[in-house]
Amino acid sequence: MTGIVITKTSPLLSDSEKRATIIDSKTNFGVEGLTYGLMGGYYTYAEINAQLDSMKARFPNLITSKMNIGTSIEGRVIYAVKISDNPDATENEARALYTSLTHAREPGGMMTVMYYMFYLLENYNSNPAVKYLVDNREIYFIPCVNPDGYEYNRTTNPNGGGQFRKNRRNNGSSYGVDLNRNFGPMAYWNAAGGGSSTTPSDLDYRGTAPFSEPEAIVVKNFLAGKNFKTALNYHTYSNLLIFPYGCLPYLTPDSTTFLEFAGDMTAMNGYSPGTASQLLYPVRGGFDDYYYDGEPEANGKIFAMTPECGGDADGFWPPQSRIFPIAQENLNPNIYYTWSSR
Ligand SMILES: [Zn+2]
Repeated sequence: MTGIVITKTSPLLSDSEKRATIIDSKTNFGVEGLTYGLMGGYYTYAEINAQLDSMKARFPNLITSKMNIGTSIEGRVIYAVKISDNPDATENEARALYTSLTHAREPGGMMTVMYYMFYLLENYNSNPAVKYLVDNREIYFIPCVNPDGYEYNRTTNPNGGGQFRKNRRNNGSSYGVDLNRNFGPMAYWNAAGGGSSTTPSDLDYRGTAPFSEPEAIVVKNFLAGKNFKTALNYHTYSNLLIFPYGCLPYLTPDSTTFLEFAGDMTAMNGYSPGTASQLLYPVRGGFDDYYYDGEPEANGKIFAMTPECGGDADGFWPPQSRIFPIAQENLNPNIYYTWSSR
């Protein structure tokens, strides 16, 4: 969300409190891989990439090496991985996608996505349902869609709390295009009824044209030909689950199906389901609409949705004590949506 910035002092957890949280996670969710990162508890871009390497080292038969899928406007690599049995082979299995950090100040989504990755990897051998899922799906992840914006926040606020949202496009008198307003096709990017700004300094500036930004093109090219069935593009915050269309005409031919998926998922965590215009404000040029039917010849039809994870009191950089609970309340919805990919 574009959101009100909540400034507050976030109490840091002690080392023993962090250990207790991870022990609790292991006991109740079978996850001990997620730790606390250097940036207020959140992983930095470098730490995300190191974690992907570590996952590959620990679980070489369940995850690919991190794949360079393209570079940002400042030249940073955007990485994706796939979790599946025979991860380096392309198998005839339905595909699901999870992304995060499209907006650079929303790291709670990334920690939630990384938690789900560890859940799949660490429970494969002990949990038959997880084994079935990993054996019968190809589950892709792009944990940091916007590395430049995220690194910019690290340079201004190395302990977390940076409030930069967009990519690092130099607009002349301001920086940044909102990547979640930069997707085509033109009919969505420029939809009547609004949902993005034409003013470069605005938080929701859409850029000069659909796919004017390299990060958006990287995602577009990554999707092409993969025939993803479901996708969750994680953002923060407001405890919502948002589905297409973000812009006019709001209703899709599959709105009933979306509402069924979202209704099931939000029953698990108490979030509110609906379209962006119902829950927040119109969004045009967003990921989800493009995924859903923006380019059917390349992508088919992807049932893409946006969780806005974390509550209003959490804001963009929830305190450390909230990282695991937010990830855990989204675990069952994440599992459900991988199941639904078929
Ligand atoms: Zn966002």
